[in-house]
This record gives sequence, structure tokens and C-alpha cells, in this order.
Amino acid sequence: IVARLKSCGLFPTKGLVGGKWIDAYDGNTIEVTNPANGEVIASVPFMGERETQDAISSAYDALSHWSKLTANDRSSRLRKWYNLVMKHKEELAQLITLEQGKPLKEATAEVVYGASYIEFFAEEAKRVNGDILPSPSPNRRLFVLKQPVGVVGAITPWNFPFAMITRKVGPALACGCTVVIKPSELTPLSALAVAELALQSGIPPGVLNVVMGDAPNIGNALLESPQVRKLTFTGSTAVGKKLMAAAAQTVKKVSLELGGNAPCIIFDDADLEVALKGSMATKFLYTGQACICTNRLLVQEGIYEKFINAFTNAVQNLKVGNGFTEGVAQGPLINEAAVQKVESLVQDAVSKGAKVVVGGKRHDLGFTFYEPTIISDVKNDMLIARQEIFGPVAPVIKFKTEEEAIQIANDTDSGLAAYLFTNSIQCSWRVTEALEYGIVGVNDGMFSSEVAPFGGFKQSGLGREGSKYGLDEYLEVNQVCLYGK
Ligand code: ADP
Repeated sequence: IVARLKSCGLFPTKGLVGGKWIDAYDGNTIEVTNPANGEVIASVPFMGERETQDAISSAYDALSHWSKLTANDRSSRLRKWYNLVMKHKEELAQLITLEQGKPLKEATAEVVYGASYIEFFAEEAKRVNGDILPSPSPNRRLFVLKQPVGVVGAITPWNFPFAMITRKVGPALACGCTVVIKPSELTPLSALAVAELALQSGIPPGVLNVVMGDAPNIGNALLESPQVRKLTFTGSTAVGKKLMAAAAQTVKKVSLELGGNAPCIIFDDADLEVALKGSMATKFLYTGQACICTNRLLVQEGIYEKFINAFTNAVQNLKVGNGFTEGVAQGPLINEAAVQKVESLVQDAVSKGAKVVVGGKRHDLGFTFYEPTIISDVKNDMLIARQEIFGPVAPVIKFKTEEEAIQIANDTDSGLAAYLFTNSIQCSWRVTEALEYGIVGVNDGMFSSEVAPFGGFKQSGLGREGSKYGLDEYLEVNQVCLYGK
């Protein structure tokens, strides 16, 4: 696979600064491994503050040219980028599976999903419209201009190594901003490959830069620089809070996509098949490693037994293995620390009275594979219901009334995604409006698309990605007052 990726030019292993592929200035490197078998795939530069400062300077220098191109020009280059990504869909998917571990089918879906943000914002680039306002005085005319915010620092996680880049870079570039990306050190290769395709599509040197290595150091360099006007981050709530605090020093615009604690509520009157399909998708897609994955299943007492039986059956049939193997539905977890976290949450729950229905331990395959798991008799104050599991474990909480379900669902600091299954229109509206969540799926599992706003309430984040709302995150609103008799 690596040989094939290399022959297509999709295996860059250096940082990208000002259109040049560079090593770390002190020559340090870090290894990228395949979580399915522990094999080293590549070494990439371990960069820090100095390389980041140069990347920021390159982005700043590129700004005047890129932001002054016509919207049509930027749009057509983004469109070309989208076309190239789609042309290399298979290779990019292989790269994702190689460094991240997810089943190839999911990796392919990620490429299509990620590419859709480039396509959508290539189109939206032409619709960054201003405004003319009725003036309160006869001698003045009032205009509103929308201007690019400037250089953007983008810090992204390992769970969607491709799509989290395009979801940020697509709208940023559409608006005329330039970007310094810091992908996760666990999965930098997808970011480098998509950056290579951006260069090939005529996006000028310096418009998109990639640095990786010492995350806190790179983060500091981005945050301290007055030239970086916007920080966009997807990752853990703990790191997001630190970045937000540090961004205050230079009052940067900030967008944060942080952790979730998604409830999936199944009411007595739900269609069992629909609820089962939705719960499987929301819990087990990406092996539970998405911030919108179900973290707590809330099941009403009347449907409880029937649901648990069907759910157990479905979970037992999930095939675990290397993402390149046909039919595999569950890949490995990203690293040993992730498995240990899942283990400790399960142990804590069991020690407090929860029961393992199926799974509950590491998989025989070894490495970072964990068995798809259901845990019943969970209480909302157990750690497993309070922290993000980020693994294939479904904790089930039984409830009696709608009020109780809403109370449990909202009893968390997070507020990203929530799901509910019911055949009552009244119930679905009541509960949807009562849920303190930025994304609500009614009788539907995982839903995320470039045309819809994605983001959280409470400590799940700030701002929205995707859709027309996502564009505003990269724009400043400029009031112009023109005086004349
Ligand atoms: P996850 O649990 O998903 O790995 P993290 O928040 O640790 O979430 O990581 C998300 C991204 O944030 C990664 O690119 C990581 O390298 C980066 N990161 C982690 N710590 C810091 C930090 N102190 N400053 C800047 N970036 C950081």
C-alpha cells in the first residue's frame, strides 16, 4: 500500500511551509504506527515553535494575494482540489485505514464526507455577500463588508484525520483566509496527502501550511502570534479549555469542537428495528471513536428487555479486525492509552453494580482491539456515564418517564449530539426542545453533513462547522459609513 501511495505522490512525510516540504530544523522525527498491528508506517518531522513561526509568516505573506483573488478564482481552485481528492478517493481511504485503523469502508466514507466540505465551500466562496443598510442620517450611507479573518491556526485530532482538515480548511480558504494546520501526531499522513493535492490544484504556496511535532509548543506559537487571528480546534475538552484561555491574550476568534456525552433515548413506542439500527450506528460506527457517538443509552422500561435482546444479538455479530479485512465492522482503538481508559471505565462501572451483558474485555486479537461491549444497570453518576468513552462500549440506563429521560440526558457538562427514538411526534418535539444539545437526531443515527451546522452547546464547544453558519466563523463583519451630501 505504501508503495502504491508513494507512486501516486500521496505519501509526503515532511512538513509543508510556504509551499516547501521541510524537515524539523533540528532533524528530530516521530514515528507513525499502524494501530492494527503496531508496525511503523513512516517517520515525520517533530517540529516546534520555530517551524510554526515560519509557517505563520508564510501564511501571513500569502494572505494579501489569496484574499484579493476573485471569489470565482478561489472557488475554481477549491473545486479542482475537490476533484483531485475524489480522483484519489481509494488511495486516501487506504492511507486513513493505515494510520488510523478504521475499516476501509468507513475510511472511504470519510474521504467522501471530507471532500464534500471542499465542494460545498468552493460553491459558498461565491456567496460571501455583504449588505447595504438603511441609514439613520440623510448624509450617510451604511455598508457591511465581510472580510476574511486572516491567518487561521487549525489543530485537529486523529479520529477523522482527513475530514477534520477539510471541514476547517474548506471554509477558511473559501473566505480568503490562509491556514497553518497542526494535525494529530498520531495521524499526520492524511493531512500531508491532502495538502499535496491542494498544491497540485493551484492553491498557492503559503496558503496552506502543515506543521506537526511538539503539540504544546506548536500550540503556544500559534496562540502567542498576533498574526494568527483565528484558532479552530477539534479535540478534547481539557485541551480546548487551555487553548481558549491562551487565545485570550491576543483576543483571537475561537471555534471549538470538543468532547460529547451523547445520550440515545429509546422510548417505549419506538419502532424497534429503527431504534436498533440507529443505536448500532450511533454507538459502533468508527468503533465508538467519534465525539457524536452514543455515550449513554437510555431505554424506557417497557421496551427494555426486547431492546436489550436485539441489541445484544447485533453487537455479538460485529466483526472485529484489521480495517483492510473484508467485512470488518470494528477496527482497533487508536492506542494503548485509549484501551486503558475504556478498561478503567468498565471496571469502575462494574465495581459500582453495573453488569457486563456482552464483551467487557480486550479482544483476543491483541494490540488495541477491544470487544464490542454492552453494560447494563448503569447509573448516570458512574464515571462511564460522565466521561467520554471513545470506544465500543454501550452503557445502558433504564428509565421510567419522559421527564426522567430528559433530566438524565441533560445531567452532563457536554452538549454535542443527542438521539431519540419514538413514534410520537409530540414526544419528539417536546424532548428535542428540552435537550441541551447542538445536534439532535430523531429516529435517525449518525448524521453529519456539509450542508448542516455541526457544533455543541455547553462545554462541547463554540461555533459551528459546515453550512452557511460555518462560513461566518472565518469572516469579520466590517461596518463602512460613507459620508456625502
Ligand atoms: P484526543 O483525546 O482526541 O487526542 P487531544 O485534545 O489530546 O484530543 O488532541 C487533539 C489535538 O490537539 C491533537 O492534534 C493534539 O496534538 C493537540 N494538542 C494536544 N495538546 C495540546 C496543547 N497543549 N496545545 C496544542 N495542541 C494540543
